[in-house]
Amino acid sequence: MSESERSLNFLEHIIEEDLKNGFQKEALRFRFPPEPNGYLHIGHASSICLNFGLGLRYDAPVNLRFDDTNPAKEEQEYVDAIKRDVEWLGYEWDTERYASDYFQQLYDWAIFLIKEGKAYVDSQTSEEMAAQKGTPTEPGTESPFRNRTVNENLELFEGMKAGKFEEGKHVLRAKIDMKSSNMLMRDPIMYRVLHKAHHRTNTDWCIYPMYDWTHGESDYIEQVSHSLCTLEFAMHRELYDWFLDQVVDSNKVRPKQREFARRNLSHTVVSKRKLLRLVEQGVVNGWDDPRMPTISGLRRRGYTPEAIRGFADTIGIAKRDNLIDVSLLEFQVRDHLNKVAPRVMAVLDPLKVVITNYPEGEEEWLEAENNPSDASAGSRMVPFSKELYIEKADFKEEANRKFFRLKLGGEVRLKNGYIIKAESCTKDADGNIIEVQCSYDTKSKSGSGTEESLRKVKGTLHWVSIEHAIEAEVRLYDRLFTDESPDTHKDKDFMEFINPDSLEIITGYLEPSLKDAKVEDRFQFQRLGYFCVDPDSSSEKLVFNRTVGLRDSWAKIQQKD
Ligand code: ATP
Ligand code: MG
Repeated sequence: MSESERSLNFLEHIIEEDLKNGFQKEALRFRFPPEPNGYLHIGHASSICLNFGLGLRYDAPVNLRFDDTNPAKEEQEYVDAIKRDVEWLGYEWDTERYASDYFQQLYDWAIFLIKEGKAYVDSQTSEEMAAQKGTPTEPGTESPFRNRTVNENLELFEGMKAGKFEEGKHVLRAKIDMKSSNMLMRDPIMYRVLHKAHHRTNTDWCIYPMYDWTHGESDYIEQVSHSLCTLEFAMHRELYDWFLDQVVDSNKVRPKQREFARRNLSHTVVSKRKLLRLVEQGVVNGWDDPRMPTISGLRRRGYTPEAIRGFADTIGIAKRDNLIDVSLLEFQVRDHLNKVAPRVMAVLDPLKVVITNYPEGEEEWLEAENNPSDASAGSRMVPFSKELYIEKADFKEEANRKFFRLKLGGEVRLKNGYIIKAESCTKDADGNIIEVQCSYDTKSKSGSGTEESLRKVKGTLHWVSIEHAIEAEVRLYDRLFTDESPDTHKDKDFMEFINPDSLEIITGYLEPSLKDAKVEDRFQFQRLGYFCVDPDSSSEKLVFNRTVGLRDSWAKIQQKD
């Protein structure tokens, strides 16, 4: 489905409606507003694809705005990671903005509100204020400081800014309505004192604006026309509008907040705060651990930007929060890698095969297609010799007729090579099979044009020549959580559902063409799945991550249970 063919989502309908009602297309402007308090995750990808997708659809600028109003949690490292991830996903922002760029303007507007009698300094403790909030059905109580004079408010607020007060001593509140049915309208806090250095403004400020006060005004400063956020902000819209009402100039674009559903992914958590716990407690090896649902984790796992964008497009935009099965994301990456990943042979659980009638010391190089469904992908040469590895699971001494792999007396074709027949096998003292002796049909070489080369046998196995194989570390991943929705249990913390077997490290034996593989190169290990080169690789040792298996084995296991 092409971008222009799919039906419009409800946010696009809102925009179309606005355009019909005379809003100028040239004035459309969007933003993606992450707080730099962690790495972006797959949930953010939905918001990125939505906002940047609208930019592309309407040929409108999209800003990348860092919502950096809480110095206690924000860091430059996160800013850098977020920029890298958005770029990697394939999007270009118009300008890079920071809410902290607007601290002075926000402060000036706060002074204006004080002078208008619409903001005041409250000197109660947070407990006292909380006690006055009321409930959704009972009105709140007005603060004893609510009617301070403008001069007193100005003096105290300037004192807050000048660093005269410790944290928690005073806050600036908007003077709205303690009886409002919307609790957020009951004199919300606009500023608090925080004696913390900020990653950009350093110690210039020791008062910091709250999210609600900052977000809409930042949208207005940037002249964002449609400010799209997730549903938890629906109740905040009234406050967003109230704050805008105080400063908006009727000749300018007045931003419009609209909400869409958060996207949750099964078997994981999508919340920076929770992901941070996994990092801090060492459950994973950092934000870009391939088990993490972060953009950088998925990237390291071998996901492509196309797969992530395809996922976001497929699930679309919704009005209700819901849980998306991770198998849908896996389907997307499998689908894309199937088109673009070169095929190679690797054996991950080796069993030695000796071709008894193959000359000792001889080797030959066989041509192998890189992608059977894409001739332009070309071909490579793979070495064949007397001693090979196949997968343990591909051999049984005896098996029924449905076992199309190798069994004693049976034949299989070695991919791109010869037909072999298992003659005998050797076992160790415990009865484990450690070697299979085979004969090969000397005229059956694939592509050689002989009658035997065209002979059909039921099974085709992947293999590697032992002498030529390169050893690599291979990291096999499983779900990070055993529960579908680990953070929705009332009586249990999500950390209780960590899958203890989410990572298995093994040694794999790869065909030698892989020796020059570069970090992030992606391959299909034939019959096994998709794998990519991990940044931990060195010139001595390659490290591969399994991105995803060829089929949805998880769904099968679940059905069996
Ligand atoms: P987190 O709880 O992970 O920190 P957040 O919403 O606080 O999430 P922000 O950095 O504020 O994170 O989010 C930037 C944008 O991405 C916001 O517009 C937010 O609504 C959107 N977003 C965040 N998580 C999701 C999600 N799971 N699905 C869709 N959009 C999301
Ligand atoms: Mg947030």
